[in-house]
Amino acid sequence: MTSVGKPIHCKAVVAREAGKPLVIEEVVVSPPKAHEVRIKIICTSLCHSDITLWKWKEPPGYFPRILGHESAGIVESIGEEVNEFEKGDFVVPVLLANCKECIDCKSTKSNQCETLPFKMSPFMPRDDTSRFTDMKGEALYHCLHISSFSQYTVVDVAHVVKINPAIPPDRACLLSCGLSTGVGAAWKTAKVEAGSTVAIFGLGVIGLAVAEGARLCGANRIIGIDLNPAKFESGKKFGVTDFVSPQNIGTKSVSEGWGKTVVVGVDNPKSDINLNCYDVLHHGKTLTGSLFGGLKAKSDVPTLVNWYLDKKLQLDEFVTHEMKIEDVNEAFELLLEGKCLRCVLWMDK
Ligand SMILES: [Zn+2]
Ligand SMILES: [Zn+2]
Repeated sequence: MTSVGKPIHCKAVVAREAGKPLVIEEVVVSPPKAHEVRIKIICTSLCHSDITLWKWKEPPGYFPRILGHESAGIVESIGEEVNEFEKGDFVVPVLLANCKECIDCKSTKSNQCETLPFKMSPFMPRDDTSRFTDMKGEALYHCLHISSFSQYTVVDVAHVVKINPAIPPDRACLLSCGLSTGVGAAWKTAKVEAGSTVAIFGLGVIGLAVAEGARLCGANRIIGIDLNPAKFESGKKFGVTDFVSPQNIGTKSVSEGWGKTVVVGVDNPKSDINLNCYDVLHHGKTLTGSLFGGLKAKSDVPTLVNWYLDKKLQLDEFVTHEMKIEDVNEAFELLLEGKCLRCVLWMDK
């Protein structure tokens, strides 16, 4: 019996309360509306941003919510006006939209999208509603327009990239967020060149990914700072506490005139960045943000997939754990304790 056009009942991980153990529940996933596809998630991996959003009690923390945004899956059905995908396509959802039509998407200068600008919204991007309900009929919030901690999810087509199915799903999911961000920060944002030196501050996976990207491109003078979300838990403002120090280390360490500090990660909306005036004014240093590594999802993610298949991009080394979705709380603990780089959760095993 076909599920097309009908709600699907499936298993999902629901975050009921900030910082509290996640709950495996049966949920109902609506059919996709116009410009949307429903995806059967095969693998999802944990990203530090999931932990950050799980801990925040106030917006952009929302509850009850289905977290998860690094994943790979197969298109189960398509909504109206969807021409780019069909049932059975192997895809990775990406948190940054790429409509391919707007002035931003057509420009090589930006990876933002004017049609669907990035926002920390808990809903679908076009109509600000949810496609999930629990068994009591209560709507569940989305996560970064993806919500991959569910066996099925609905995603806007601007956030979905069709990729070569030759890459295994437990590697493809890494290109959905963290590894692409890290590689892109070096490749697109800092434009690393052969023969340069890379310094990494921060112990997060993003930082390591920058190292990987740099090695891929030949290495360089970039500093990738992982904005470790754990630093925000004290409730103190960014730039006032110990968090100022990795920031300052970053800007002080890069070379005068040509050093670049690339900041990646998810941040508290009340955060500030402290800069020393002389570092910028007298030393000509650059500080830049990098959302999704400066990559354009639809064109650059398939390139990274090809690099992996050609053995130019290392992904295998990042996967330290593979578990069942039922073990999601254990996986969160591993990430919180810094005992894993990437933990892949299989949705059906
Ligand atoms: Zn992420
Ligand atoms: Zn666009």
